[in-house]
Amino acid sequence: MPKITKIIIIVISFVGLLISATLILNSNILFKERTQKVDNQIEEKTEKGFQIEKIDGITYIGGTIITNKTYSLPSTYVPQNIVIIYDYVNIIDYVKDAFNALQSDAQSIGLNIYPASGYRSYENQERIYNKYIEKDGLEKADTYSARPGHSEHQTGLVIDVNTVDMTFDNTAESTWLKNNCYNYGFIIRYPKGKEEITGYMYEPWHLRYVGKELAKKLYNNGFWITLEEYFGITSTYE
Ligand SMILES: [Zn+2]
Repeated sequence: MPKITKIIIIVISFVGLLISATLILNSNILFKERTQKVDNQIEEKTEKGFQIEKIDGITYIGGTIITNKTYSLPSTYVPQNIVIIYDYVNIIDYVKDAFNALQSDAQSIGLNIYPASGYRSYENQERIYNKYIEKDGLEKADTYSARPGHSEHQTGLVIDVNTVDMTFDNTAESTWLKNNCYNYGFIIRYPKGKEEITGYMYEPWHLRYVGKELAKKLYNNGFWITLEEYFGITSTYE
């Protein structure tokens, strides 16, 4: 083989090697870009376009903590700034302030609204839920009691008021709450007729704090819509 041919072959091989290396490097960069995009999409969106974020196992949808049958809290989750509101009832401090305002306005027109239950720890919920299963069986217990980790009471953002049973419905207090609690940032979390959507029976005593802005939207001029409908999410056990 003439010397010149050898040189040409070497040069061609070298150029080929260079092109291959460039291609490999490029595809690697492309691959990295693609995985980064996938990483960013870990923050999913609901079917209504709200962002679902999971921070330390807690689910925030559109910035609001969501705890229902689909979304749970870690067993270790204890909210910060829990204070006593009444007797053995505890809630987050700013929820207490909102409730106190609601309570005193109700009182000024002769209505008596008082806290019956508030923050409940994971262990406490576990105990209660197991007791209900023993009494009513799993299927029935699931319609009125949350499984541990799925109770909204664990958020510290919930107050059950007055009599925690259906004798409370249609009392002057219950009717006033239905029409006014949103002014203080609370919602009727499990409205009548929305059992299939929330996964729970109607509970006129269960008030969830969401802040005034969202509460007003959910109040919907008296036609309560649920957090599930508003955000476009489900509430079902897996
Ligand atoms: Zn409750």
